[in-house]
Amino acid sequence: MGKYSEFEIRTQPWFDQSNFNGFNFAIPMKTLVIYCVDPRASDIPQAVARYFGDEVYPGEMVLDEAGNRVGSTRTIFTVTNGGGRAATALMTVAEMDYLFHVQNVVVVHHSFCGTSSYMPEGLLKKFHDDYHAEISTLFDHDSLAIPDFEKSLRYDIELLRSSPAVPKHVKLYGFFYEINSGKLTEVLRDIPALRRCKEQTWISMGCFDCSDKTGHALSSRPPGRMNIFTSVQQLGSDGRRPNAFSRWDIQSQHCSATELR
Ligand SMILES: [Zn+2]
Repeated sequence: MGKYSEFEIRTQPWFDQSNFNGFNFAIPMKTLVIYCVDPRASDIPQAVARYFGDEVYPGEMVLDEAGNRVGSTRTIFTVTNGGGRAATALMTVAEMDYLFHVQNVVVVHHSFCGTSSYMPEGLLKKFHDDYHAEISTLFDHDSLAIPDFEKSLRYDIELLRSSPAVPKHVKLYGFFYEINSGKLTEVLRDIPALRRCKEQTWISMGCFDCSDKTGHALSSRPPGRMNIFTSVQQLGSDGRRPNAFSRWDIQSQHCSATELR
């Protein structure tokens, strides 16, 4: 027993590790937002919460009768690092998925970011020249600087998607945040079940009962249907109204489109 063992969850009488299935009952976390340490970008989690509409940030502390902090209403957790890069956030994604079942990972890069003021070679050279330190093999080279925001966002989303530390069902989003206006712009998204339909523009994913073309939100899909097929709504030609839906068959990996009446 260590000096602080009484504060470890594993030692608590109420905790049963053999039946552990996440702490979402205490904190309904579903989305991880990765963004820059720059204080001018500190409003990004609130902006993401507003964008999605069904997220809570910062939320409120949940106290028990004794005043102990037993939870929070927050649904967004944050990871900050220089530039808001995915490479150094991977461990947190894995940890938070074990503890909370991560549903979405959001990467936000912001205007006038300090890491867009140099190229990776400049940082490596400074350490080499000033500190006689070789750090080029310590970090992911392309995550050391942002030479182009669209490229850096795409790089980070692809890095997350290709990493075994990110469960394949997790939805990924890349945003650009303008620090003066506070405007958040979605640059790209990678929704797993939609990836085979890249030629289309998709706005939402749901699970359809064939007789119910209005669809359901993914979170409320009927139990057991997920293994049969996942259906999606397609953005209408007017850019707003869904006028068709598509069915992505998990077994055949085939995507078919049907007009809505
Ligand atoms: Zn920055």
